[in-house]
Amino acid sequence: MKILIDNGHGSNTLGKSSPDNRLREYAWAREIAVRLVDKLKSLGYDAQRLTPEDYDVSITKRVLRANEICRKHGTKNVLLVSIHNNAAGNGKWGNAKGFSVFVSKNASANSKKCARLFTDEAIARKLMGNRSIPAEKYWTWSWTTADIGILKQSNCPAVLTENLFMDNKEDCDFLLSEAGKNIIVDLHVAAIEKYVKSL
Ligand SMILES: [Zn+2]
Repeated sequence: MKILIDNGHGSNTLGKSSPDNRLREYAWAREIAVRLVDKLKSLGYDAQRLTPEDYDVSITKRVLRANEICRKHGTKNVLLVSIHNNAAGNGKWGNAKGFSVFVSKNASANSKKCARLFTDEAIARKLMGNRSIPAEKYWTWSWTTADIGILKQSNCPAVLTENLFMDNKEDCDFLLSEAGKNIIVDLHVAAIEKYVKSL
């Protein structure tokens, strides 16, 4: 089983930071991705980062990489997890807080199963904030006809985690704390382990 960890965005991605600029999504996601891959490897999993670069790698290139690995290992033997922070998006501190996990509109049963496991682990860690949890226990871009490119175009099961709101003060403090980082990594490890064992 090949586990691909994608850290969203790059140092050259505009915006994508907390209102006070303490948290930059590209840097936070990379730190978590590195810790997560290390932890998965220490547990004996074959994990690697999809985008080790610091700069932003286009979705097209990410998908090419993921699908090349799918060709080598077989689609069912690959899982892709893309790590992000959510934002209400008006550049000021906001009230929206909590974890959510997304799949594409064309998601496979395994993508949905994996996403549900992520939601369960987030609930277990009381990280849902004020997100209302859909019955399916995963989210899609239901408000638009557009879709999440990295998830839609990758051939393997794929989920995208929105790890709390970087523009919520409480979430931001948590995300930047050592305890918070450990809990987020632990959540990902637990969900991935349960998914792999379910296959
Ligand atoms: Zn993002």
